[in-house]
Amino acid sequence: MRQVVIVGASLAAVHAIEGLRGNGFQGDITLVGAETELPYDRPPLSKEALLAGPDREKLRLKEPDWYAAHGVRLCLGTAAAGLDTTAREVVLEDDRRLTYDGLVIATGSAARSLGSLAGLGRVHALRSISDTARLREELVPGRHLVVIGAGFIGLEVAATARRLGLDVSVVELAPVPLTRVLGDEAGGWFRDYHAENGVELYCGTALDHVEESDGGTKLTLRDGTVLAADVVVAGVGAAPATGWLEGSGVRVSDGVVCDSSLRTSVPGVVAAGDVARWHNPLFGEQLRVEQWLNAVEQGSHAARSLLGETGAFAPVPYFWSDQFEAKVRFVGRADGADRVEVRQTGDASMTALFGRDGVLRGALCVNAPRSLARYRQAVLNQVPWVDAAGVA
Ligand SMILES: Cc1cc2nc3c(=O)[nH]c(=O)nc-3n(C[C@H](O)[C@H](O)[C@H](O)COP(=O)(O)OP(=O)(O)OC[C@H]3O[C@@H](n4cnc5c(N)ncnc54)[C@H](O)[C@@H]3O)c2cc1C
Repeated sequence: MRQVVIVGASLAAVHAIEGLRGNGFQGDITLVGAETELPYDRPPLSKEALLAGPDREKLRLKEPDWYAAHGVRLCLGTAAAGLDTTAREVVLEDDRRLTYDGLVIATGSAARSLGSLAGLGRVHALRSISDTARLREELVPGRHLVVIGAGFIGLEVAATARRLGLDVSVVELAPVPLTRVLGDEAGGWFRDYHAENGVELYCGTALDHVEESDGGTKLTLRDGTVLAADVVVAGVGAAPATGWLEGSGVRVSDGVVCDSSLRTSVPGVVAAGDVARWHNPLFGEQLRVEQWLNAVEQGSHAARSLLGETGAFAPVPYFWSDQFEAKVRFVGRADGADRVEVRQTGDASMTALFGRDGVLRGALCVNAPRSLARYRQAVLNQVPWVDAAGVA
């Protein structure tokens, strides 16, 4: 293999480069990115970088000279628009074609939009540095922020905005926050915690219609509640960035479909990060996760697969979230759980265990850092549910 092209210039890509060079690949590497920025870190965008304003240099994953030192040709500010897997060419939006014999798809995910909020000037999404910079300017003390969607990013933005002195309301269709990820019982803890910190939660309802005027944005909810907002954030999830693969023959189904080694349906093409849906043998199912550590580990694993290694990518997923004083850490899987045990271990700390088919599958630790590694090992070892309570 002599020419590798990596499409998507972010976290998974940087780790793919490290994986390629670290495992002896000496050919050409071209990195294609739609954004003009050098690859940067996204988790701070809803936390410290939103609080203080984003510092582009501090957020960079690597210094500019790292790319030269790793022999990477940068092709930034240009999206890939198509893929010809027969000719082995990536087609860029400016019609240039890049030949590859190995391709890493690392295009991540893009914030979903909500039809009723489309085109409104006071509505923000949060995915990029520029999004954070624009939103930060609007977070003026005393203003009213309405967040649509109580997922992790929505709740982090809510917490940051409260710390900046805004009034904050969160609207969520489900009966409690984070239901999709953590289920109702653990989600209930987040509802109470945010309410204690001054966030107004409107759960079990949705946005009905919106009117924007010079004075602000009027949001009417389905239950009749009317909220007058100065700023609105749509935190309604993300979708894998696969549009450019249409017609290429690379199989896509809510993400790029991969085998357990992160190989796609087309030879010489692997995928990594938020965009990849792969078979995780540890859980015996297809997963696609939008988590920082997953992008790091998949980037280097996909690079090794491209170089011919055949090992399965079978980690225990991990993510974190910071909201007010809560350090939220999660290992494993919570969805599909048939057993959940939530333990309040202090005013701002709790643990929730998730079991399925008689074994421990996941654990949520809030302000309980010491238990996390033990639960991770227990999920890896598929510890029986009856023994899970004694793990920590
Ligand atoms: C605000 C925010 C907060 C987060 N907080 C946490 C957290 O606390 N904990 C945690 O575990 N995870 C968190 N995450 C998730 C984590 O950042 C992602 O899982 C990670 O960034 C995924 O990396 P990636 O390289 O797969 O994709 P991305 O970071 O999404 O990057 C993909 C890149 O590909 C580019 N691209 C897309 N399409 C094309 C194309 N056609 N051609 C060229 N380039 C293209 C995009 O512009 C982008 O730069 C957060 C994410 C966000 C947005």
